[in-house]
Amino acid sequence: MKRTVYLGLGSNLGNRLEYLQLAVSNLPDVSKVSPVYETAPVGGPDQGPYLNCVVQLKTELTGQDLLAECQKQEKLADRIRKERWGPRTLDVDLLWIDGEVIEEENLTVPHPRMKERGFVLIPLRDLDPTLVDSFPNSQKVISGDLDSVIKIGTLLDETPNGE
Ligand code: ATP
Ligand code: MG
Ligand code: MG
Repeated sequence: MKRTVYLGLGSNLGNRLEYLQLAVSNLPDVSKVSPVYETAPVGGPDQGPYLNCVVQLKTELTGQDLLAECQKQEKLADRIRKERWGPRTLDVDLLWIDGEVIEEENLTVPHPRMKERGFVLIPLRDLDPTLVDSFPNSQKVISGDLDSVIKIGTLLDETPNGE
């Protein structure tokens, strides 16, 4: 059965918008794409601002399939891992799979830090306000991050299925 899935995308190296665009065009089963936000980095070393967006899929892929897809997109963007939370061309995180909780050694869903992050909750709310409102404290996190998460536009390929 198809389920609704949300992925969080981020980039703060190179042509950030192009990296997001490329991932959105290569991901399978994309049904919606949020606007793009420019956001202040959270944690990690001193680094430049990110572009972030959230993508909705309607898919039968499993959690592990989806993690592999996320990592494939990061690889296509030549992501190099150095220190934790360091700058990167592309980060694709599996945020949410409707009706599913996963606790495996390489995969935790819902993403363990998503509910504390304005750069996730704000674009996710554009796609699914009911879901975001169901998270305790989401309103508080969002209001605290309004100054550091700024809408800058949309990706070209917003309706990949021609809808
Ligand atoms: P954060 O997870 O805080 O956003 P990050 O995205 O920079 O940090 P990564 O280096 O991209 O962290 O990922 C580290 C590891 O997290 C990956 O090797 C992956 O196996 C694991 N992981 C666990 N749960 C998830 C998830 N829901 N989505 C993506 N990766 C996950
Ligand atoms: Mg991440
Ligand atoms: Mg990641």
